[in-house]
Amino acid sequence: MVVGVNRPSRLIIDASAIRHNVSEEVQRLDQKSELFAVIKANGYGHGIRKIAQFTKEAGATGFCVAILDEALDLREAGFTEPILVLGITDPDSAKLAADNDVSLTVGDQEWLNQVSQQSVTFSNPLKVHLAIDTGMGRIGFQNSEEFAKAADFMREHSEKLDFEGMFTHFATADEKNTDYFNLQTSRFKEFLNALSEKPKYVHVSNTATSLWHAACNGNMIRFGVGIYGMNPSGRAIESPYELKPAMRLESKLVFVKKIKAGRSVSYGATYTAKEDEWIGTIPIGYADGYERRLQGFYVLIDGQKCEIVGRICMDQMMVRLPKEMPVGTKVVLAGQSGSESISMTNIADYAATINYEITCGFTDRLPRIYE
Ligand code: PLP
Repeated sequence: MVVGVNRPSRLIIDASAIRHNVSEEVQRLDQKSELFAVIKANGYGHGIRKIAQFTKEAGATGFCVAILDEALDLREAGFTEPILVLGITDPDSAKLAADNDVSLTVGDQEWLNQVSQQSVTFSNPLKVHLAIDTGMGRIGFQNSEEFAKAADFMREHSEKLDFEGMFTHFATADEKNTDYFNLQTSRFKEFLNALSEKPKYVHVSNTATSLWHAACNGNMIRFGVGIYGMNPSGRAIESPYELKPAMRLESKLVFVKKIKAGRSVSYGATYTAKEDEWIGTIPIGYADGYERRLQGFYVLIDGQKCEIVGRICMDQMMVRLPKEMPVGTKVVLAGQSGSESISMTNIADYAATINYEITCGFTDRLPRIYE
């Protein structure tokens, strides 16, 4: 996608906030535990390579991504740390992963059978983390005997397969009620007990688990949304330390006009001025990931809330100004302005979604500026 460097709309990423969030979490871990930074989906929209660098500087010793291509991008950028792909990878790509020293997630025996039968040789045995489905219902072994057999199978095929890790993923670690969480932890224990020898990494914790259930951590955590200074529970549970937001979204007014009472704004003419009003146009829209459902939400200009009026267009949107303001005036769509601020969670609340979806949704047309 073409990056809009000649347009004033941009995402600003604060490296010190990222380093703060990661080092706070690293300090809470016990000596033998590692923090792997979850930087899938372009580092939750913040930029995969930069976030890899900042998190590494703050104490992350490995990375988790969703797909093999993200892992290969990190290798191409020169990162030599362990990288785990959390999603399922096609068995035909096993050699590519092994040759690049990328660890893959495996959720069933059939996958291992297929790879063991491949006639190709790997430069190193493929590092495998077995996923266990304790209640997320997404990927992984549901039966502890089948799981233990898969572990044995890998030991018998050690020229190709290296049983490096086992993990599960919690569905409700970010909720106050812990009943389902406890059910998942007890199921995980069954799987642990089924093994005669544990792999190098035993891991269960996303950000929410590590923040609020650190006792379960195992010896590695998969720290994601906390890196970016966002609370995984939205605002339901308080973080034990300050999570500093790492991303701001700013733009400028590019057009300002007075409209008469009775004039309408944007597609569908859904907004009609009740009195004479000053309207400002901002060069950002749903093609940048600033979604249409944010109509009626607000931006900050000079510390004042200005309502988004009329439908958000693909590349532009309009706000009602408190008074005439010059073209070029700074607009804060996420971040601080005077005593007011807009967080990704505020935006998510208005859009009836979660903060994760907001930052992941910003498209590559928005330049990422690092400071
Ligand atoms: N582990 C797995 C398997 C995931 O899918 C994710 C993200 O979705 C994470 C860890 C990181 O989660 P969070 O961003 O909530 O820390």
